[in-house]
Amino acid sequence: MKRDCPRCFSELVPQILKKGMWKIEIDECNNCSGIYLDKGELMSLTGNRPLHHLTTKHLGIDSGSELLCPGCGSLMDDEHPGGVEIDVCLQCNGVWLDKKELDLLKKIDSSTLKSLSPEKLAELYDAEQSVSSSGILSWLFRR
Ligand SMILES: [Zn+2]
Ligand SMILES: [Zn+2]
Repeated sequence: MKRDCPRCFSELVPQILKKGMWKIEIDECNNCSGIYLDKGELMSLTGNRPLHHLTTKHLGIDSGSELLCPGCGSLMDDEHPGGVEIDVCLQCNGVWLDKKELDLLKKIDSSTLKSLSPEKLAELYDAEQSVSSSGILSWLFRR
């Protein structure tokens, strides 16, 4: 299926990334160097399970993203793991990464995300008086 870049609407080109014994096929934009990952591919590339959970289980509903998912055409949701702004599809859990964002995500220590239990998040959230309504994850990762 033909997929278009959600940023600049160029056609995405399949690329093979090697990670150890694994070969992962991603879709890359030759114009802006953004990449689209199907569900699970971010996990394969980073080995960061908490990050994978963040992009599949803890999705916000108040999307600030204006991108349409290259995989299924749904509106994506912006998330900020470790301060990196990424776009995640609420329907198919595909992930859109702008240029260099994959490198930034690889540097995030999984233990940083793992320590953030829902209880801990609620505690931090309550402690902050001037929290905006833009969502707990956005708030947390902007600090
Ligand atoms: Zn592009
Ligand atoms: Zn999608």
